[in-house]
Amino acid sequence: MSSFADRSTDPPDEHGRSLAPGARRLTPRADVALMAGYHSPQIDVDVRLNTNEAPEPPPAGFVAELQAELERIPFNRYPDRQALALRSAIGAQHNVGAEQVYCANGSNEVLQSILLAYGGPGRAAAVFEPTYALHSHIARITGTEVIAGERDDDMLVDELELARVLTVGGRIGGANPAVMFLCSPNNPTGRAEPRDTVERVIASAPGLVVVDEAYGQFARWSACELLHDSPNLVVVRTFSKTWSLAGLRLGYAIAEAEVVDALLRVTLPYHLDAVKQAAGRIALGYGDEMRERVARLAEERGRVAAALAELPVDVYPSDANFILFRVRAHDAQEVWRSLVQRSILVRDVTGWPSLAGCLRVTIGTQAENDAFLAGLTAVLA
Ligand code: PMP
Repeated sequence: MSSFADRSTDPPDEHGRSLAPGARRLTPRADVALMAGYHSPQIDVDVRLNTNEAPEPPPAGFVAELQAELERIPFNRYPDRQALALRSAIGAQHNVGAEQVYCANGSNEVLQSILLAYGGPGRAAAVFEPTYALHSHIARITGTEVIAGERDDDMLVDELELARVLTVGGRIGGANPAVMFLCSPNNPTGRAEPRDTVERVIASAPGLVVVDEAYGQFARWSACELLHDSPNLVVVRTFSKTWSLAGLRLGYAIAEAEVVDALLRVTLPYHLDAVKQAAGRIALGYGDEMRERVARLAEERGRVAAALAELPVDVYPSDANFILFRVRAHDAQEVWRSLVQRSILVRDVTGWPSLAGCLRVTIGTQAENDAFLAGLTAVLA
């Protein structure tokens, strides 16, 4: 049996590093050691269009209200462990009570809690690739087997592939997949899943169906509409994109109270700090400003898509604040590097399943989008 800390008589590690006398080699779990992280490079550039953040800051009124609130926070005390005021305020937006709202530090942490509670050894999670990499990444970290389905040519989930994934799950045993992920609109491809697809998945899944709506406010419909009739549905949202608050790290899930209870059981005590709880609650008072930003970005998305269509690239339709495109005659990674040299950062997704030759650009301000389009036109000339 391998021990947690092997002694320094070990041979050099894969980087050729030997241990100092008396030192210990600290070895993570074998499957963790094999896992690559999921990171977009944080490079200092003028035009940052690689992580689907909002290009505009939140309204000045939000910042002023939060500043005033800071004076009232009893910093010597732990925050409300139940985060009840925040959960009630979020619930009010979706016509549900606080008991149906689960909050965490970004929607990634929500996804992690879902997999801690419903995934794990002997259980499987299904994804439809290409999709948001963290669904399968966090599944693996939590010891959950991953069943990878494939999207069709329109980058949507079709009926036959759904049936295949459910059959694979059945072979793994038990009620598998215990968690099925749909990302709608899907990152990095852009389209929202049609309502009848989501309904079909909810009806046929043996376990939870998690609809990741990180970009939900950009879409024409939301799976939130199905919550009342679907006890196995979890809708996950974030403050990072449409709410212009990526720096705050706040995300949430809406689900049956029983599911929220299970998520709270795997959550560390006091995991949501008092500032975040106040900031999230205050932000919800600026919904009109959020919807105006979303409308502006959707208009810009149309303009960028039309301009991209004039270039030697194939553009995928988008219901989100980013656009996926495939570079035709050039090497896409070379194009990515040339854009970085022009201080423009987009997302290189060439290594993702089925996305050879593809880059993803976030919709920024008008000036940022112009800089990107000019840069890309020059690189492809
Ligand atoms: N889900 C999707 C589909 C995303 O694209 C992202 C951010 N890239 C997240 C979840 C995570 O967002 P956050 O943790 O900032 O809420």
